[in-house]
Amino acid sequence: MTIYNYDGNGRLMTITVAANNASDRLTKLLNQLKKCPQAAGMANSLTQMQNSGTLVLTNLGGADGSTSLTGTISIDSTYGITAHNLAHEYFHTIQMGMFMSAGQTGAGASGFPSAGPFLGAAAWVGARDYNAVASIFNGTPGFGPLDVQAEAFGQQISSQCGID
Ligand SMILES: [Zn+2]
Repeated sequence: MTIYNYDGNGRLMTITVAANNASDRLTKLLNQLKKCPQAAGMANSLTQMQNSGTLVLTNLGGADGSTSLTGTISIDSTYGITAHNLAHEYFHTIQMGMFMSAGQTGAGASGFPSAGPFLGAAAWVGARDYNAVASIFNGTPGFGPLDVQAEAFGQQISSQCGID
């Protein structure tokens, strides 16, 4: 898989070429997870994301995975292809969806329907900022309250399905 990253002006910034065996490993892991009742729904969603290019393998330089503000999941092609890590990042997309839909509801009530997605996105950005700042206060930079929940979910999936 080849990933092209462009800057805001459409200039090519980086090209990431992940080994094919990483993408095979990811597909194999997702197929394993589909056989586990607790993880099947998640694995189906992740397969759809993989097919639509919003679940990507890349080199994260030390981190296992990350979820962008728009919900794209990046998985480190060397260290990140684990059930626990996929579930952790997947949980972040669930958290994002919760903020987005809360924004929609709030906007409907205030009579500005078109502001809905914006309010949701703003709330999600705020939650991410809070997460980053709280992680520094807690002495675990990069690992805030959102990650505590996501990590617990990741451990649950991994242990209940018996898949590392
Ligand atoms: Zn996280």
